[in-house]
Amino acid sequence: MLIAKHAEELILSLVQPLSSLRDVEMVDLPAAMGRILAHAVTSTLDFPHWDNSAMDGYAVRFTDVQACSVEHPTVLEVVEEIPAGYLPQKAIDSGQAARILTGSMMPQGADTVVMQEEVQRDGTQVLVRHVPKPQAFVRHRASFYQAGEILLPAGLRLTAPAIAVLAAAQCIHVWVYRRPRVAILSTGNELVPPDQPLQPGQIVDSNQYALAALVQQAGAEAVCLGVVPDQPEALQDVINQAIATSDLVISSGGVSVGDYDYVDRTLADLGAEVHIRAVAIKPGKPLTVASFSGYKTRFSDPPAPDSSTDLGSEPYRAVLYFGLPGNPVSALVTFWRFVLPALQKLAGQPKEWEPEFILGRSRHALTSDGKRETYLWGQSILVQGEYEFSLSTGSHSSGNLINLAQANSLAVIPVGQTQIAAGDRLQIMLTRMAAT
Ligand code: AMP
Ligand code: MG
Repeated sequence: MLIAKHAEELILSLVQPLSSLRDVEMVDLPAAMGRILAHAVTSTLDFPHWDNSAMDGYAVRFTDVQACSVEHPTVLEVVEEIPAGYLPQKAIDSGQAARILTGSMMPQGADTVVMQEEVQRDGTQVLVRHVPKPQAFVRHRASFYQAGEILLPAGLRLTAPAIAVLAAAQCIHVWVYRRPRVAILSTGNELVPPDQPLQPGQIVDSNQYALAALVQQAGAEAVCLGVVPDQPEALQDVINQAIATSDLVISSGGVSVGDYDYVDRTLADLGAEVHIRAVAIKPGKPLTVASFSGYKTRFSDPPAPDSSTDLGSEPYRAVLYFGLPGNPVSALVTFWRFVLPALQKLAGQPKEWEPEFILGRSRHALTSDGKRETYLWGQSILVQGEYEFSLSTGSHSSGNLINLAQANSLAVIPVGQTQIAAGDRLQIMLTRMAAT
């Protein structure tokens, strides 16, 4: 049985990221939030576009004011007012100044801005009593970025500031990776959709909904294939359909050692290479990871960013298959721990795929059998700059979904450790994800 870290490394090594040539689409800026840039964005503009003032004040020539003092102010003639959006009409000569407002263009001849708080205005004249620094409050053209420089790198997940950068650079359409397609299926004769009456022995297929929500939250497209009964032929049909139409497949249930657990067998029958059958974590031990190779990128036919780009022959892609355990908490924990990193690598994110572990303190004593890496769910809150973890009340059975709903994190008890005393430090995995 693999330890969690090794399973994570093996899974990430199996992921073939989307292609920055083929697996891309162009989106308008308002639809770009959370998408991943397929190509670096290069600026065609200088930032700032022209020399401008960082203050409300007066544009002057430094040499005119370098000798001023409280007793002997420099008196300058105000020859023009330059509000925002106005092209200065006059060059500033010696003895002259222009009234200038924040963000306005510097007039020719002036090289320094004196803050309005530092001067005295008197009719058409302005009196300067304090020597400014040379070039004070002038934002020079191209001092932030020059045309031709890379503004945003490939692989960046677009945030509000990045979208502002694109807008400022007048990039109104951007090439992003298409959303990965993730097929989701649930296996089990006992499962029914939530809108059907429950017969004795039946339960609702809640995993499909939870997994679809997580897939969407990760920025991918969920393709829900419903409930498949515990029958090898039915499983074969649906898994075949899933691998032909998606980049990644997630099933839940049917991966244990029970008489009706057909997933592993079906994967082998379909020619998959099974890489992982179990991982030393609790909850979530029976985790199957397999890959199918030799599938053409049939479902995606995007235009090339530049029609002269040679895409070569159509490559074969590998489809990764995650057979998660059916217990609702196990399915979610294994998604957070193993599927999400794989999905982030697949989506084109160049790094930081692994889950974030943070340090905190436990408010309660926590116990484990020490044999598997154990995850206990609860609430982590920041108290004076340090995370404090409170265990969710109620049963910590992997079948009890209810008390997970108000948890935001998992406390981690490493293999070999059987308890964490109240007040002790521990590692915490945050389960909330940034919305995309
Ligand atoms: P399995 O992994 O198939 O042995 O299922 C383990 C437990 O999880 C059983 O109690 C199942 O009824 C339950 N279970 C399996 N699939 C789902 C699902 N999609 N939604 C909710 N519970 C499930
Ligand atoms: Mg089952």
